[in-house]
Amino acid sequence: MKAIRLRKGGAPRANGHAAGKQPLKPDGLFPFFRALEPQMIRWLTRLVNTDTPSDEKRPLDRLARWFAGQFRQCGAQTEIAKNRDAGDHLLARWAGPRALRKPILILGHLDTVWGVGESQRRPARIENGRLFGPGAVDMRGGLTLVLALARYLQSRVAELDKPVTVLLVSDEEVGSHTSRSLIEAEAIRSETVLVMEPCLPGGALKTFRKGVGRFTITSRGVAAHSGVDHSRGVSAIHELAHQVLALYKLNDPAKGTTVNVGVVRGGTRSNVVADEAGMEVDIRVATVAEGERLNALVHGLKPKVRGSSLEIAGGINRPPMERTATIVALFERAQALAAKIGIELTQGETGGGSDGSFTAALGIPTLDGLGPDGGGPHALHEHVLIESLVPRAALLAQLVLKL
Ligand SMILES: [Zn+2]
Repeated sequence: MKAIRLRKGGAPRANGHAAGKQPLKPDGLFPFFRALEPQMIRWLTRLVNTDTPSDEKRPLDRLARWFAGQFRQCGAQTEIAKNRDAGDHLLARWAGPRALRKPILILGHLDTVWGVGESQRRPARIENGRLFGPGAVDMRGGLTLVLALARYLQSRVAELDKPVTVLLVSDEEVGSHTSRSLIEAEAIRSETVLVMEPCLPGGALKTFRKGVGRFTITSRGVAAHSGVDHSRGVSAIHELAHQVLALYKLNDPAKGTTVNVGVVRGGTRSNVVADEAGMEVDIRVATVAEGERLNALVHGLKPKVRGSSLEIAGGINRPPMERTATIVALFERAQALAAKIGIELTQGETGGGSDGSFTAALGIPTLDGLGPDGGGPHALHEHVLIESLVPRAALLAQLVLKL
């Protein structure tokens, strides 16, 4: 994940997770979440020590049910959206006194990029105020804040100005193929969407995300003995090499367009002309129009080596979250609300996609990056800054209550 800060916080500013040196007007939120901090650390530890890769239905289903139990104890109505193809998804709703109003939708995901057994090898550990472990910041930390919010709502549901819906899906890390329609259906019924992905380093929200395209390109040729029959062979690898270079020419950093061939494979032995080769390609774009242009270019690639053929599959999987006037206006409201509890909120952008990209593309005001501060998503040094848990929980509650 590459992060570009729009505004740099000068010392000693409170940039979204630190409370700063000015006296706070905590509005009751900070004392509540400060008292809950030891429990938040226990939840986070438990979640980090629970492996739920996107393709393992059983552990995902178990975790969805555990969350359902937690939310029900806090007064929510819960609903498991059964999913034959992958893990189940979970909905929890707090209606409050104004049940007919459009709700605030909080989006999260139960899956991580780590396989079964990862947390046994690398269980949660705390070092220098950081909690390390698989999935810590993406997004066990965000889920911990949602549990803390549920505890807050437990006794204060009567204060809700509008209903609150939490949707936790099981397949975000692999493109949300089985949850996208559910995410979009809930978003359309909602007034605002808050996404629990990690914030940018320092606490900034993500008000712009690039769109993501994924493609699989297979080249086919004719196998032959490399010594005896070289001229009869058609090398699929030779063909693929042309296409790799053609794809790299599409890179346009000034426009924010990036193309990455992340995987190549092909051939059997050095003395055989390869009859098949393939690659997996990741494309990032800043606008919907650029996504359409790139999609057409990739699908329009033509074979260069005589006698070879190409098969091209895939497309733009997540649209970009463009920084529209709606999103800017929502961020500014959030910023004002954060300031009331002593948090100076900033915004920034990322090349990574999220489920917020789907809801923003529907025109639903979406704020992303509400998770805690930390670093190393999808990496071995992945961690959550423990000191950010209390202020980020207070921020989430403030937005849910007041937006
Ligand atoms: Zn995530």
